[in-house]
Amino acid sequence: MTVLDELSGYEFEEVMEDVFRNLGYENVRQSDRGADVGRDILMEETVDGIRNAVVVECKHTDSVGRPVVQKLHSAVATYDYDGPKRGVVATTGHFTGPAKEYARNLQANGDPHEIELLDGDDLRTLADEIGLDLYNGRIEILCDETLRPYDPTRGVDAPVEVAFQDIENIHPDSLPGPEHWVVFEPFVRIRADIESVFETGAGLIHSIDQTDELVVQADGDGPRIPRSGIQRLVRTNLDAAVDLDESSFEETFDDLSVERFGQTETEYKEWSVDRLRRKHTTTVQYTGDNNVTYRKECEPNLSDISVQSIRPVYLPRVRSRLELGEYAYPYEYYAAGPSRLALEDGIRRCKQCGETDDSPYTYCENCGSVNCPDHTKTERLVGEPVCTGCAVTETFFYSTKYFYDEANLDQFRGEYEAMPIHRKALENKPLVAGTAAAAVLFVLFVLLTVGVV
Ligand SMILES: [Zn+2]
Ligand SMILES: [Zn+2]
Repeated sequence: MTVLDELSGYEFEEVMEDVFRNLGYENVRQSDRGADVGRDILMEETVDGIRNAVVVECKHTDSVGRPVVQKLHSAVATYDYDGPKRGVVATTGHFTGPAKEYARNLQANGDPHEIELLDGDDLRTLADEIGLDLYNGRIEILCDETLRPYDPTRGVDAPVEVAFQDIENIHPDSLPGPEHWVVFEPFVRIRADIESVFETGAGLIHSIDQTDELVVQADGDGPRIPRSGIQRLVRTNLDAAVDLDESSFEETFDDLSVERFGQTETEYKEWSVDRLRRKHTTTVQYTGDNNVTYRKECEPNLSDISVQSIRPVYLPRVRSRLELGEYAYPYEYYAAGPSRLALEDGIRRCKQCGETDDSPYTYCENCGSVNCPDHTKTERLVGEPVCTGCAVTETFFYSTKYFYDEANLDQFRGEYEAMPIHRKALENKPLVAGTAAAAVLFVLFVLLTVGVV
């Protein structure tokens, strides 16, 4: 227990709070430090539908004797709680023989307030069991759950194929298989209860009684709240998390990496409490007995915020890449099974101008580019789409024509030469239409002039 031994008494209590929270105890909180009546952590458990109170005494000492157990026993007995109660003594060291005997006797005599003893060895076992590692004197998050990097019913290629369905002139079935990389990014979801009451001489002016939740991006760049779309993705899919099974994901992805959580669980907890405290701080306006209006800033106390659960999970960031002709198509997104949030869509984007609005994009088979309507033309000889980036052009009857290559241009030149003049004129439809309209107007003008109409 060398690492635990290096903790201060205060840090040991914090670690124990985290351990119990991870074990599934509810409403885990520190007792009021000012009035030390021999209890450090208060928490609850639900047994057969009945809520029990558990009072935990933390002893950061080599040896714990009978008086400590006895003192906690009477503290539990007098603890004001409407329901069954029991006690736990947790120590980094060991219990003396008389201490163990005292606890055993309580149980043997059917005492309503049993005391459970957890020594250093027990704590190490518990820490291992709940996936917590004792690291540099604090608890590091060890997370083995992730949101699904892809939907197994559709496969990992599906998001890229779906994006290509929006591209005209290309059949998704004809696409080559994309490459895929995945980075598992660390997140934590923190749930906390906030209970705050603000009173002045004029009485109660403000109160808070609610549960709040934070989704925190938890990589090495420090804790932060991600944008709302990412929060929603994590929040709504958390219950569908799966084991992070690297060897099975390695079969699907060309490359895979798992980012480390940047901070300890305790640090995320403290960060969240601070953030929630600021979030729930408001300025309240009230009228005093003297009919004077006051404004008061109501900031919850640290002890008003009780963290209920800290749930670590990985959110997969998938990057796919597909090559067509001379071009590469990247597509990057956060994945959660069938749901995803695009970060970069390099598919629905014009390769000539970079336009990414909702235009119908068209694939140019000649060079492999995807293009917006402005940069998509019709190949004059074969009548298929061709992009302005690769087309060979020439002007026929004052109108620019686009060709896959010089050979097609040459062939069309021959055809054009052989055309009668009225067919040649059709190469410039706007001009022809304009001429026709002008002719109608001219006839009308003539008729008007001579008085026929
Ligand atoms: Zn364009
Ligand atoms: Zn092209």
